[in-house]
Amino acid sequence: SIIPDYLADALFRVEPDTSGQPAQYIPELAGADPERLAAVVATIDGEVYGAGDSDAEFTIQSISKPFVYALALADRGFDTVLDKVGVEPSGEAFNEVSLEHDTGRPLNPMINAGALTVQSLIGPWNSEPAERGERVRQGLSAFAGRELTIDERVSSSEMDTAHRNLAIAHMLRSRDVLTEDPRTVVEGYVRQCAVLVTARDLAMMAATLANRGVNPLTNEQVVSGAVVRYVLSVMFTCGMYDAAGDWATQVGIPAKSGVGGGLIGALPGQVGIATFSPRLDEHGHSVRGVSLFERFSSDMGLHVMEIP
Ligand code: GLN
Repeated sequence: SIIPDYLADALFRVEPDTSGQPAQYIPELAGADPERLAAVVATIDGEVYGAGDSDAEFTIQSISKPFVYALALADRGFDTVLDKVGVEPSGEAFNEVSLEHDTGRPLNPMINAGALTVQSLIGPWNSEPAERGERVRQGLSAFAGRELTIDERVSSSEMDTAHRNLAIAHMLRSRDVLTEDPRTVVEGYVRQCAVLVTARDLAMMAATLANRGVNPLTNEQVVSGAVVRYVLSVMFTCGMYDAAGDWATQVGIPAKSGVGGGLIGALPGQVGIATFSPRLDEHGHSVRGVSLFERFSSDMGLHVMEIP
């Protein structure tokens, strides 16, 4: 295959770009090695091609959001989840303290307000926080096709400075969108964000979405095709927050970024793609990751609105 050489060449071309910096507001992430760089492509047939640091572990951060949303839809059904979290793009930053005026509902599950609410909608009704945590870890593992673990240092480091997420959770509690202790919800969310993955894991997770919810290597049906259609739709419209429109026009692939430096794209019926590079732009997206995706989209004609 020519794909590994193509990926290696793409990494070589973006490597000189040292703009941006690793997330500073989570102390453990501020110290991440900023030179790490990887790209992995996983097809729905189970072929995996990687280049660079594709087996280096980092925390999943916001890339967990679409997958945990998928688990909530599967566990609680569409109506229950939609009643609490909308599917409208917010056009705002991921950590904006914003709720729908009339209902108090978060606009979508990709921003923190939505993801915090989704955290309370995991597992069977009235699950204990520990059970929910295990459901999230196992669910993300099923998407990846490998047992994933949690970076306790990153999790407690983020909790130490989680004032903004606590503020959002308290707002949600005041509107009865959350009906439990806001701190417990933030703790669950922060642990979800601290799940350790590699670029290879993320590519497999994205390929599972691209493959109607079936992991191409384990063949496990992790969630239904109907759930995946919802998830990919909100990724397309909301996954890149206040850069979602730019991304949709320039790259045109349902995608999600994380402040750990990961970035995924899922092209339905074709491939899952993941990149890793910790320096971030002003939206919290990996700088080199965005460049790589722009390159992949135009070189391989991956824009979903493009007729092949
Ligand atoms: N844990 C991070 C936060 O809530 C995730 C943000 C992100 O990756 N965009 O701030």
